[in-house]
Order: sequence, then structure tokens, then C-alpha cells
Amino acid sequence: MLKKILVTGGAGFLGSHLCEKLVNSGHDVVCADNFFTGSKQNITPLLGNPNFEVLRHDVTFPLYVEVEQIYNLACPASPVHYQFDPVQTTKTSVHGAINMLGLAKRTKARILQASTSEVYGDPEVHPQREDYLGRVNPIGPRSCYDEGKRCAETLFFDYYRQHQLDIKVVRIFNTYGPRMHPNDGRVVSNFIVQALRNEGITIYGDGQQTRSFCYVDDLIDGMIRMMESEKGYCGPVNLGNPGNFTMLQLAEKILALTHSKSKLVFKPLPQDDPRQRQPDITLARDKLGWSPTVGLEDGLRETIRYFRGIIG
Ligand code: NAD
Ligand code: UDP
Ligand code: UDP
Repeated sequence: MLKKILVTGGAGFLGSHLCEKLVNSGHDVVCADNFFTGSKQNITPLLGNPNFEVLRHDVTFPLYVEVEQIYNLACPASPVHYQFDPVQTTKTSVHGAINMLGLAKRTKARILQASTSEVYGDPEVHPQREDYLGRVNPIGPRSCYDEGKRCAETLFFDYYRQHQLDIKVVRIFNTYGPRMHPNDGRVVSNFIVQALRNEGITIYGDGQQTRSFCYVDDLIDGMIRMMESEKGYCGPVNLGNPGNFTMLQLAEKILALTHSKSKLVFKPLPQDDPRQRQPDITLARDKLGWSPTVGLEDGLRETIRYFRGIIG
């Protein structure tokens, strides 16, 4: 059952954990990454392994390799990074999907798309089920990411209907853990770095907006279960931890776990910032037998340990 597997975005936060898990299971893994937000450090532990190979490659260009499975993760995920070059972000999602689907079509590989809860936009339905069609602004600063990911889902389902490709789509909700980029502006990494440095904890808006946070190990387990699910089951499936927290509650937890002297500082809410987001994971439970096992405090402890190590 050992396979040759391509992971695009494999040097990023989620991608590096995925590569590690696949290599440790004995698979032969090719990581393709342009290192925009990923790093060689993330994959250093794998570099000596004969089952692991890295290609510096931008998925907006064609790629010819022979593989049996493709996990398509290439795309900057944090607002700071995806808004840095928004045109490139859309190209990565759309041209990247076309190229990886073309590759899957030629090699008859099974292909999984790392989609996102952002396809629901600023949702008026709460929690979000997969049949909710979303409320997305097509022309705002988040659109390059949200609409790029929506179009990628469209391409996946059209390649499925038109070319009978073996596709799988997961919609990932906020995931955190070791190897998050310290400067990516995500709430978990920001708060931990600020707390460890005893700097102000930046709460955007009134801090009453809610998010659900999934620990990386749980997420990777769900992604692999989806890839290994029965043929013909395409999703989309939500993957996330349904625990629901305001940003103020998150800040309090991180302050307590780090014994920090930081104070809260309130900053303006970014445009189109979703008010609430929480996955309904009934489908993942039923179809994949998956549900998260790591609680927020345990996951935060591991993440804090990682950030202490890299920022001193
Ligand atoms: P990340 O930024 O750490 O990883 C993305 C990786 O893709 C990086 O290594 C980056 O260098 C690479 N990349 C970007 N553009 C590329 C291109 N054109 N060609 C090749 N490589 C490219 O982010 P992450 O958190 O690991 O996210 C991985 C995937 O999961 C993304 O597709 C993201 O949209 C999705 N996702 C993540 C979350 C989350 O909470 N982390 C939530 C929803 C969806
Ligand atoms: N492609 C690729 N690797 C392959 C096969 C295809 O990167 O092994 C790219 C190729 O550049 C093509 C795209 O995938 O433009 C879509 O391929 P498809 O076969 O669907 O379409 P076509 O080749 O007809 O444009
Ligand atoms: N946020 C915050 N302070 C920060 C960074 C983010 O209050 O320093 C808020 C942000 O406005 C959003 C929530 O935390 O409401 C989650 O933001 P993140 O960028 O982590 O994820 P996303 O908005 O993509 O879910």
C-alpha cells in the first residue's frame, strides 16, 4: 500500500507536518514548494530521508512527475501573506489547481484539495455545514484568497464531472501548532509571540468575534483519512475543532499559560473580518470516523513550547 505522493506547499506549516507523517508511514514523498511562506527549516528533519525529495517549484507553472496521490496545499494562508501579492494568490489557487488537476488527469492520481472555511465568507449560518453556500465579498481585500479557493473547488468538481478524476476536497478551519510562521499575523501566533515578549496583546475590534481552533496533529489525521476514504466520495468535508472561543477568551488562555505580564491593546477590526466561524463536523464524523482529540489548552501548551524555542 506504500505510495508515491506529491505534497504541494510541503514546506509550509501544515505541509511539513503532512510530509513528516507520510514519510514516517513509509511512503515516498515529493514536496513541491516555492518557499514563499514555507521554509527549509520546516523540512530539515526529513532532508536526509531517502523517501523524501524537495523540488523548488511554483505551482502556477506545469509540473511533470509520476505520482499516485497529490495533496494540493500550495497557497499562502494568512491574510498578511496572501494580501502581500493578491494577484499571485489567485494565480496560485486557480492556475495551481489547473496544473495539479492536469497532472492528476495524466497520471490518474487521486488528488486532494486543501480548501478553507473562508469559502463561507462572513457567514450568516452558524455553525457552518458543507451545504451552506457562503457569503463572500468578491471585490474586497480577502477576495483573492476566498474566491481563489472557491474557484479551485469549482475546478476540482468540474474535473471530476468532465474527466472522472478521483478528487477529494476538505475545508480546513483555523489550525494552529508548532511551525506556524511567527510573523504571519494569525491570531494564535501573534498572541503567543506578544505574550512571550511581554508586549501588548493586539485585539482587533472588540474581541467578541469567535473562531474554532484545531490542533495540527488532528487536522493532518483528518486530511489523510479523507485521502484514504472510499473511491467516489469527494466531499467537501469540513475539518476543524468545533470548540468556539472569542478572541478575548483566547487572549486570556494564552496569558495564563505563558504567565505573561502583557496587557490587552485594542486595534481596528480589519475589513470583511468574519464575525463568527465554527465547523459543523457531522459529515467528517460519519464519513471519516474523525473528530479532534486535542483540546485548546493542550494544543496551546505545545505551540507555546515551540515558540519559546524559536524566539528565546
Ligand atoms: P503556509 O503558508 O505555511 O503554507 C503554504 C505553503 O505553500 C508554503 O510553504 C508556501 O511557500 C507554499 N506556496 C505558496 N504559494 C506557492 C506556489 N505558487 N507554488 C508552490 N508553493 C507555494 O500555510 P498553511 O497554514 O500550511 O496552509 C496550507 C494550506 O492549507 C493552504 O492551501 C491553506 O489555504 C490551507 N488552509 C490552512 C488553514 C490554517 O489554519 N492553517 C486554514 C484553511 C486552509
Ligand atoms: N499539466 C501539468 N502536468 C502534467 C499534465 C498537465 O502540469 O503532468 C498541466 C498542463 O500545463 C495543462 C494543465 O495541467 O495546462 C491542465 O491539463 P489538462 O490536461 O486538463 O488540459 P490541457 O493540457 O488540455 O490544457
Ligand atoms: N486577530 C486579533 N488580533 C491579532 C490577529 C488576529 O484580534 O493580532 C483576530 C482577527 O481579526 C480575526 C481572528 O483574530 O477576527 C482570527 O484571525 P486569523 O487571521 O488568525 O484567522 P481568520 O480571520 O482567517 O480566521
